[in-house]
Amino acid sequence: MDVITEIRSTLRKANLRITPQRVAICEYLTHNNNHPTALMIYDQVKVSHPNISLMTVYNTLNALNQQGVISEIGKFRDEHKRFDNITDPHLHLMCVQCGKIEDLQLNLLQRVEEQVFVDTGFIVDRSKLIYYGVCKSCQEKNQNEIE
Ligand code: ZN
Ligand code: MN
Repeated sequence: MDVITEIRSTLRKANLRITPQRVAICEYLTHNNNHPTALMIYDQVKVSHPNISLMTVYNTLNALNQQGVISEIGKFRDEHKRFDNITDPHLHLMCVQCGKIEDLQLNLLQRVEEQVFVDTGFIVDRSKLIYYGVCKSCQEKNQNEIE
């Protein structure tokens, strides 16, 4: 399936009318793994679709999130929610200094989910795991400021 066909079926699954604006939002999500906020997507998509509203971006993201197509992964300080188009289990490392969110695939996560099932019979469908801390480049920057 090509990207556009996939996007169309995703929108249909989320009960959203297929509009060029919504397709553009989904294209952004497909091509950027920067864990964007609604505002980041809006700023980019409005370049090619000037008539898009921020509300459309919010509504589309919420509908996609409810369908499990994307996931909402938390906030940085008081800023808006961040979204992720990768829903496979992975860990997020959020830098409290610059707000960058890095992905980390850990086989361990799979084992934790298996252990949850063994211990409780519970089947994990989705998870949201964020480690807050300071990223490597911010650590280096802080170090340089001290020197
Ligand atoms: Zn950082
Ligand atoms: Mn991620």
